[in-house]
Amino acid sequence: MSVNEIIEKAGVKSVLADNDKDLIRRAFDFAQSAHKGQKRQSGEPYINHPLKVALGVAEMGLDVSAISAALLHDVCEDTSCDTATMEKNFGKDIAFLVDGVTKLDKIRFHGTEREAENLRKMFLAIAEDIRVVLIKLMDRLHNMETLSFMPADKQKRIALETLEIYAPLAYRLGIGEIKGQLEDLAFPFVYPKEYEWLILQVKDPLEDRKKYVARLTPIIKEELEKENVKNADIHGRAKHLFSLYKKLLKYEMDINKIFDLVALRIIVSTIEECYAALGVVHKLWRPVPGLVKDYIALPKPNGYRSLHTTIFGPEKKVTEFQIRTKEMHLEAEQGIAAHWAYTEGKSTKSYQEKGIIFASKKELGWVSQLRDWQKEFSKPDEFIESLKIDFFKNRIFVLTPKGDVIDLPEGATPIDFAYQVHTDIGNQAAGARVNAKMIPLNFELHNGDVVEIIVQKNKKPSSDWLEFVKTAGARKKIQAHVRQFREVAAFSQKGGQVVELRLSVRDRIGLLKDVSGIVADFKINMKSVTSETKNRVYPLIIINAPIKSRNQLEKLMVKLKTVKGVEEVSYKLLTS
Ligand code: MN
Repeated sequence: MSVNEIIEKAGVKSVLADNDKDLIRRAFDFAQSAHKGQKRQSGEPYINHPLKVALGVAEMGLDVSAISAALLHDVCEDTSCDTATMEKNFGKDIAFLVDGVTKLDKIRFHGTEREAENLRKMFLAIAEDIRVVLIKLMDRLHNMETLSFMPADKQKRIALETLEIYAPLAYRLGIGEIKGQLEDLAFPFVYPKEYEWLILQVKDPLEDRKKYVARLTPIIKEELEKENVKNADIHGRAKHLFSLYKKLLKYEMDINKIFDLVALRIIVSTIEECYAALGVVHKLWRPVPGLVKDYIALPKPNGYRSLHTTIFGPEKKVTEFQIRTKEMHLEAEQGIAAHWAYTEGKSTKSYQEKGIIFASKKELGWVSQLRDWQKEFSKPDEFIESLKIDFFKNRIFVLTPKGDVIDLPEGATPIDFAYQVHTDIGNQAAGARVNAKMIPLNFELHNGDVVEIIVQKNKKPSSDWLEFVKTAGARKKIQAHVRQFREVAAFSQKGGQVVELRLSVRDRIGLLKDVSGIVADFKINMKSVTSETKNRVYPLIIINAPIKSRNQLEKLMVKLKTVKGVEEVSYKLLTS
């Protein structure tokens, strides 16, 4: 595998200028010297990995910047190098892409479903650019292909992350082929027993089905040609193993109930031919009622288009057909990347200009899916124009040093972060590091920042923090502390403080006497006792009394709560 292979692939969709070729070569040389002497877990030279990733990116038809960034994607992770160096050598666009991929490396999935959806969103928010996501998907694909060389404890975590985060992302971007590959690679690591079971189950039926489908192919071909549909590409396609497994879960694990174990694909030139082909198939064999699906007229939310039908074939074997145009086929396999490839092929425009071509809504079913993720993202054109993923406008996602995701409102500070992680961490926050640099506590956090809070025992929250915190949770906790602090000060200053105690009660005969008795036991002289009953479910007894210390106040409140009929006790410090 060499850089020339990549240049060749990159030149398939559009002719590369000499300086584009030079750029790719320079990126390769830089990566090669950066990874010099490094080995993958498999023992092969490290550089093979970025080469594989870049080849995948080139096959997707992405631009020269993305291909170069793919070659460089692990340089900053594994060796001493920074964004400034990248930018100096390769320009802003590539430096931005490499930085994006490096940031995404910090995301770790630890395994709850609730977390998964957040993580997927954060992934896109941090990536900021679809190209970053696509590079990362190719990176993950190659890492999955070589997962067996990793230590066992890592295998499971990485495979689960692939299943929960990467495969769904690929699906939502409409990249069905990558999604299927990622899932199938992760499957044996995440569910080893189920995988073994499935392989045994599927072996014979799969072979039978492949032979069966091969028999049908010439029959259809002949009939299509009679209808003047020429050059149709007809082939059988075995279902991806993991999606087969998921389907089996819904069908009592009975493989005989799965009609698309091997589906027949008919790929034609035009939409008219799609419907003509459907007619031909239905003329040959009787369709199963209710299983004809027109995803051309009504595409799936991720943009998928095809005609599906299921028929009773020869020997009454139930068989699924998928009928689509070449363009739809490419879209189904490559999703958003296919759109990219199309515009790339058709125009000589620069990357920024091309963004506008993307805005053709008809072509972009996948955008509607992305929009569903965040309803407030209302103008797909804007989004596409820059290819920036900034539709999580009001939220940012930052990381703990362990890689856990913390979701915060825009403008949030390390104090908001600290309280979100744990109240004690907020209360004892003394300083903060963001991306390993010391920063002030009112620093505004950004997507993908790795935030570390420095705590100091016995440190107290400061009322100054109230001026900059953004989350209600942090505000409440700081206020509670500040109030407590003031109270301690109030008691200690005077050696006594007038407190207003408010008791919600279910009134009964003798209640007030019991309450007064307890106050007297504490040797406290009440200044006044009043009650309020108007518009209340529970009447209120209000006692004003001087109290010596916070400690005494707390003890008194505990005692009052034990009185039968007292439902709730609260207090207020009165300024004398
Ligand atoms: Mn990598």
